[in-house]
Amino acid sequence: MKTYQHWIDGAYVDPSDGQWLDTTDPYRGEVWAKIPRGSSEDAALAVKAAKRTMADGPWATMTATERGKVLRRIGDAISKNATRLAEIETRDNGKLYSEMLGQLRTIPEYWYYYGGLADKTEGSVMPIDRPNMVAYTTHEPIGVVVALTAWNSPLQFIALKCAPALAAGCAVVIKPSEFASASSLEFAALTKEAGLPNGVLNVVTGFGQEIGAALVEHPDVAKISFTGADSTGLKIYETAARTMKRVSLELGGKSPNIVFDDAELDAAAVGVVSGIFGAAGQMCIAGSRLLVQNSIKEEFTERLVSLAREVKLGDPMSSETSVGPIATHPQYEKVLRYIDVARSEGARCVMGGQPATGPGLIGGQFVEPTIFADVTNDMRIAQEEVFGPILSIIGFDDEEEAVRLGNDVIYGLVAGVWTNDIGRAIRMTKSLKVGTVWVNTYRAYSFLMPFGGTKQSGLGRENGQEALYEYLETKSVFLSAAAKAPPNPFIQRWL
Ligand code: NAD
Repeated sequence: MKTYQHWIDGAYVDPSDGQWLDTTDPYRGEVWAKIPRGSSEDAALAVKAAKRTMADGPWATMTATERGKVLRRIGDAISKNATRLAEIETRDNGKLYSEMLGQLRTIPEYWYYYGGLADKTEGSVMPIDRPNMVAYTTHEPIGVVVALTAWNSPLQFIALKCAPALAAGCAVVIKPSEFASASSLEFAALTKEAGLPNGVLNVVTGFGQEIGAALVEHPDVAKISFTGADSTGLKIYETAARTMKRVSLELGGKSPNIVFDDAELDAAAVGVVSGIFGAAGQMCIAGSRLLVQNSIKEEFTERLVSLAREVKLGDPMSSETSVGPIATHPQYEKVLRYIDVARSEGARCVMGGQPATGPGLIGGQFVEPTIFADVTNDMRIAQEEVFGPILSIIGFDDEEEAVRLGNDVIYGLVAGVWTNDIGRAIRMTKSLKVGTVWVNTYRAYSFLMPFGGTKQSGLGRENGQEALYEYLETKSVFLSAAAKAPPNPFIQRWL
C-alpha cells in the first residue's frame, strides 16, 4: 500500500499532525493508498511557500515567455506519464480507464495553450487628452490562488485552473477531493522536473471542512477557484466574501437535452444515452432531463431503452466495460435515495431502478442505468442534481414550452438541442439561459472554448482566453512627465 505525502515548497512532506486518510478503489471496495489528512497548519505552510514565490525568487522575476516554456514542459511531462496517471485516476474514482486515458492525452494541450498565452496578456494605451501624460493598463497576477477540486476528473480540473493561473504568474495551492487525491500528488513532482520553481505549485490533501476551509479563510489567499457541489460553493463564496477574495465557482447542473420531432433520432438517442449514462452520470454536464416532443415521446423512449440495455457494467480497467461503479459510497447511497424519491413522486420507472449486482460487479457500488418516464418538471427528480445514472423524461408540445421547461431550474450549466431546423436551432441557442449550448451533439468540450455556468451553476469561466483573466487584475497607470506642481492643490483636474 502506498502512503502519500503533501507536496509543499517543492518537496514531499508528512502532514504536520501525523494523520492520514484511506483512499479506496471503488470498483474493488479496497483501500489501496493513504493520503495526508491535512490541517490548518499544513494549509498555512503551503500558502506561505506560494506567497514567498510571488514576492521573490525565480518565479517573481521570470519573464512571461520563460513561464510559458515551463508550462509547455509540464504538458510534455504529463504526456510522458499519461498511462500511469490514468491508471491511478481510475483506481481512485472508478471512471473508465479509456476515458481517463483520453483525458490525460488531452490535458497537455491545456498546458501548451496557456503556455502560449503567458506572454500575450497585452495591456492598452489610452489616447488621453493631455500632452505630458501617458495612460495605459497592465495585467498583473492576482496573487496566491487556491484550487479546490472535485473527484470526477482530478488532473483535468488542475489543468483548467492551474495552467491559466500559472500562465498569469500566480502561485497555487491545490486541495483535491479527499476521494481522489493520488494523481494530483503524483503530478506535483512532475512540475518540478519540468522546471517549475519550488513553492509555485503545492498540493495538500484532506477533508474539505478541515484543510479546505482553512485555505478559504487564509488571509494571504487572493482567489479561490472551486469545482464541486453548489452547497459547498455557496459556503465558500460566503467565507471568501469576508476578505473580498475573488472566486470562480464551477458547480452543478440539471441540464436539459431537448429532442424535437424533426431531429435525426438515431444520433439524438446516442447523445441522450451518453449524456446521462457516460461516467455513470457523474458529470456536472449530465443531460439528466430529457425534454422530448410529445409527438415522438413513446417511440423515442423505446429507442433509448433498447440502446441503454446494451450497457456493460464492470471493471473500469477493462476495454469491454461501458459504465463503471459509482465513485464514492455516500454518492452511491445518494443515487439510490433519489430513485426512491422519483418513485414516491409518481415517476414511472421504465428501466433499471436498483443497485446492479452480478459476478463482475465487485465492491458493491454499481447502479443500473435508470430511466423514469411521466416526470413533470416540478418533481424533485427533475429539479435536483443527482450526479448518477438517472434520466428523467419530460414531454413538451412546442418550442415555447421546451424553452420554458429547459430554463425552469435553478441551474444553467449546459443544454443539448436536437433538430434539423436551423432557424429553430438559432432561436433555441439564444433562449436557453445556460453557459454552453450543444446543437446536434452533446459533451463536446475543448480547452479553446469558455466553459462555465449561469444562475446557480456558478461564476466565471474556465478554458479559452477568458480563463486567463480570471487570474489577473487590471492596473491603470497615469504617467505624467510634468514636474510642475498644479496651480491649485485643492482642485482636482478632471479631464
Ligand atoms: P464537493 O463540493 O463535495 O467537494 C469539492 C471540493 O471541495 C473537494 O476538494 C472538497 O474536499 C472541498 N470542500 C468541501 N467542503 C469544503 C469547505 N467547506 N471548504 C473548502 N473546501 C471544501 O463536490 P464533489 O462531491 O467532490 O463533486 C461533485 C460536484 O461537483 C457535483 O455537484 C458536480 O456537479 C460538481 N462538478 C462541477 C463541475 C463543473 O465544471 N461545473 C465539474 C465537475 C463536478
